[in-house]
Amino acid sequence: MNEEAELLQSLIRNSCINDGSNNPEEIRNADMLLSVIEPTAATVDVVDAAPGRRSLIARWPGTDPSAPTLMLLGHTDVVPADATRWERDPFAAEVHDGFIWGRGSMDMLGHIATMTLAFRDLVTRGRHLPGDVVLAAVADEEALSGMGMEFLMREHSDLLAADWVLSESGGVRSGPSHEPKLNVLIAEKGAWRVAVEITAQPGHSSMPFGSESALGLAAEVVAKLGEADGLIRISDDWREVVRRGWDPRAWEVITDPERIDAVVARLPIPGARAVHGLTRMTVVPTRITTDGSWNSMSAKAVIELDVRTVAGQEWDDIAEYVHRVVGPDLSERIHLRTIAYANASRTAIDTELWQLLERSARAIVPSASLVPAIATGVTDARFMRQQGATAYGFGLYSPRIEAAEVPMMLHGDNERVDVESLALMRELWSTVFLGLAERPPHER
Ligand SMILES: [Zn+2]
Repeated sequence: MNEEAELLQSLIRNSCINDGSNNPEEIRNADMLLSVIEPTAATVDVVDAAPGRRSLIARWPGTDPSAPTLMLLGHTDVVPADATRWERDPFAAEVHDGFIWGRGSMDMLGHIATMTLAFRDLVTRGRHLPGDVVLAAVADEEALSGMGMEFLMREHSDLLAADWVLSESGGVRSGPSHEPKLNVLIAEKGAWRVAVEITAQPGHSSMPFGSESALGLAAEVVAKLGEADGLIRISDDWREVVRRGWDPRAWEVITDPERIDAVVARLPIPGARAVHGLTRMTVVPTRITTDGSWNSMSAKAVIELDVRTVAGQEWDDIAEYVHRVVGPDLSERIHLRTIAYANASRTAIDTELWQLLERSARAIVPSASLVPAIATGVTDARFMRQQGATAYGFGLYSPRIEAAEVPMMLHGDNERVDVESLALMRELWSTVFLGLAERPPHER
């Protein structure tokens, strides 16, 4: 077993599980990565947002202050796994047929393991690049980053200064095997956690005649939202994703707001979900709580909504949509409130970093080309984009990782990565460093 595979196994076995309400103790993964970096000459900072909630930021200074700083950004926490649905123990990191099985193997402990080793190799060789190189292994990405990037941005933004950022997702092959397309995450939808509050004038549940219950009204709201199709918005990024990554003949229909739903209806399920999600704001009720008991009707109900917005859709669009969908009568009975949100974010295509990534990938897979992708979920890259950084999700997987299977594994069952992909990914980061070292002075 090689070094990157062994490091990934240890990170999986540390089981830093983050369900948003527990303490994942990312300190165990942070300290494991620290043990790799600490013996080197890099500057290392360790930040605890709360006991156990440790993030690690290492910096290898460059020689030219005007050259861009590159950050490799990864999170060390993972989402829970339901072991009863897995074919193997999600936290044992067993190896079968060249695959390491385990929660986080793709999202994104494989990334951060290979990033850490490539960073260590760079520093150990003692070669300074023109710009700084930063390795950030952060906590709490899986619960909207309050104990990770959000905390770091607020309290230690100086540690995170970077112009170019590489983070999770991307690098999966599609298209013909002799000319693979590698996806690059360029944009993410926004995520809003919204409360819909409902009040009613209930009676006793033994004499319900003529009284109402907040739960009943909430059920009507949930039913109406469930029947609605979301608020369509075709973004420029979506047009580019389709133009570069899909059959060009599909471009016209798949970017037409009037015809998009007919396309969704005809596609098989993984594709239909992606096209549906990436072309509109989705509003999904995920939870109802009430103040009722078994024998008292509820006076108050709160529905939680998971709202995912396309870039350009804001709070007013969400409120207007929900009120319109529930109709005028129910609309008067509801009050909307934001619990938390993460804005949609994007990075342009064809930047200098994009070209560096394409050159680096081609140095390893000569016939490869890059295609843009958008995520329906949020990642920590959004914090760096808000600072003005050029940020992409990228990696380099072997042909054994199939594009259609990836969405099922991420936050799903039987997540696994092959050992060859880890070696490719480590080589990719080192090749990117090499490209930075050879960056022509006129581009600086
Ligand atoms: Zn992730």
